[in-house]
Amino acid sequence: MRIYSLSLCMIAGIQAAAPKLCGVAEQGGILFGESDTHNVYFNNKRVSNNGVFTIGLAMDAPEKVSIKFCKKGIFGACQTFEYSVGLRKYPEQHVTVPERFVTWPDDIAKRIAQENDAIRAARDVLSDGVFFMEARPPLPLEAHRITSVYGARRVFNGQPRRPHNGIDFAGEIGTKFTTIAPGTVVLVGDFYLTGKTVFVDHGNRIISAYFHMDEIKVEVGNEVLYNTVLGTVGNTGRSSGPHLHLGIYWHQIALDPAFFIK
Ligand SMILES: [Zn+2]
Repeated sequence: MRIYSLSLCMIAGIQAAAPKLCGVAEQGGILFGESDTHNVYFNNKRVSNNGVFTIGLAMDAPEKVSIKFCKKGIFGACQTFEYSVGLRKYPEQHVTVPERFVTWPDDIAKRIAQENDAIRAARDVLSDGVFFMEARPPLPLEAHRITSVYGARRVFNGQPRRPHNGIDFAGEIGTKFTTIAPGTVVLVGDFYLTGKTVFVDHGNRIISAYFHMDEIKVEVGNEVLYNTVLGTVGNTGRSSGPHLHLGIYWHQIALDPAFFIK
């Protein structure tokens, strides 16, 4: 996303009067823009603060989305504009993992539900900052190929499961990696499915997540900067080999990290 700046925002709406937006108008992408004069709403939720608004497009976002712009003030009139969203096709991927990561007993189900609650809470953080526009890869891309893409339909040991909600980088256990952008660590855990896990808030509803780590080098509340090492690549949780999983979320919606780091 570092190639974008707010002055280079060319996404046109379907109606000629629609404000031009920045970002990627595709499933898994993000739309964003700036307005000091309007509050902006998406799916009846306000998505602007501090003059910047962000809208995350889910993996299965429809081919048209509506965004409402309401003039600030008591008598502020609203206008709704539509934008086209590019639809994508996702590959299918078969993965082999130990059986305990495909079916599990009730006590593990309870643990997973509790961990998912903590993850949901971390993705609900709302703070200022627009660091996501200058995201960098957590590992050098030339040395760490992507082994699983966003949206891949996952089949674990022959059983269909939820689609992949991030991208995986191949890497050796113990390889240090960095945060994709400045922010604040909002969650650290050792979880059943995601293994050793870190979530970082970058402001304006954008959160990055790092899974299956071997070692965690940060704590909740730490401020991180470009090049801050979060930890090392590992093989913890539901993982079929050493790798780093990178997720990027807009609130609870998983976006395609490939749009941010290329
Ligand atoms: Zn992954």
